[in-house]
Amino acid sequence: MQPENHSTGVLPPALIDIGINLAHDSYDSDRDVVITRARSAGVTQMIVTGSTLASSAQAVKLARAYPGLLFATAGVHPHHASELNAQTLAALEELARQPQVVAVGECGLDFFRNFSPHPVQRAAFEQQLELAARLGKPLFLHQRDAHDDFAAMLAGRGAHLRGVAHCFTGNGAQLQHYLGLGLAIGITGWICDERRGANLVPLMGEIPAERLMLETDGPYLLPRNLRPKPASRRNEPAYLPHNAMTVARARGESLESLAYSSTRAARQLFALAPPSS
Ligand SMILES: [Zn+2]
Repeated sequence: MQPENHSTGVLPPALIDIGINLAHDSYDSDRDVVITRARSAGVTQMIVTGSTLASSAQAVKLARAYPGLLFATAGVHPHHASELNAQTLAALEELARQPQVVAVGECGLDFFRNFSPHPVQRAAFEQQLELAARLGKPLFLHQRDAHDDFAAMLAGRGAHLRGVAHCFTGNGAQLQHYLGLGLAIGITGWICDERRGANLVPLMGEIPAERLMLETDGPYLLPRNLRPKPASRRNEPAYLPHNAMTVARARGESLESLAYSSTRAARQLFALAPPSS
């Protein structure tokens, strides 16, 4: 990428939101405005999360409409694991093969909400691990309250593993476990929550720069310390610089240096060409 001259304050540092649920219906009325606002805030590229077959198809559609700016993931979230059968898996593979799809996911295990039974979650996850390996695409991984099972399944994939543990909210041991598996780490505005996110702050310095990526996970996880408080509870990619600032402070580095390294890391893992303009 072209390093921009930040010292003039003219250009905000170029960031990539690696996890934005832009297919979510809360953006239906003003999606274009949300995208424009994100670009003005310095978010130069975004990866639209697919979490069901339908939202993955919509993510691909969005990525086609905004080539070079939006990319997509295709996957079935553990909440929806029971949606995956032979027929939907074939449809998912068809989507995942599209050039706009830069990762398989989000997929993984969620034993916090347990919207799908554990064996169903494991089967759906395994199928998507195989799909990613078959297509040679990285994984966009979701895990909540299921670290041991999740890590064991990933360890079983051995050297084929390339992906990001999205919305990392774990402890130091879990972080080291993921890094040992070769994963990148996605940090959301969870870290901006002075109660729930406090344990993440001292861990930020342990993540190698080339493995740290930033995401909003909008419309979820509105950063709690945004000031002034937005009128809407809806999170959006334009707030990514706020997350980035919080992470940079926790790491004791400048926003510019974190923006540079996290953008480079995301482009590398997801094989994104820099935007043309
Ligand atoms: Zn998730």
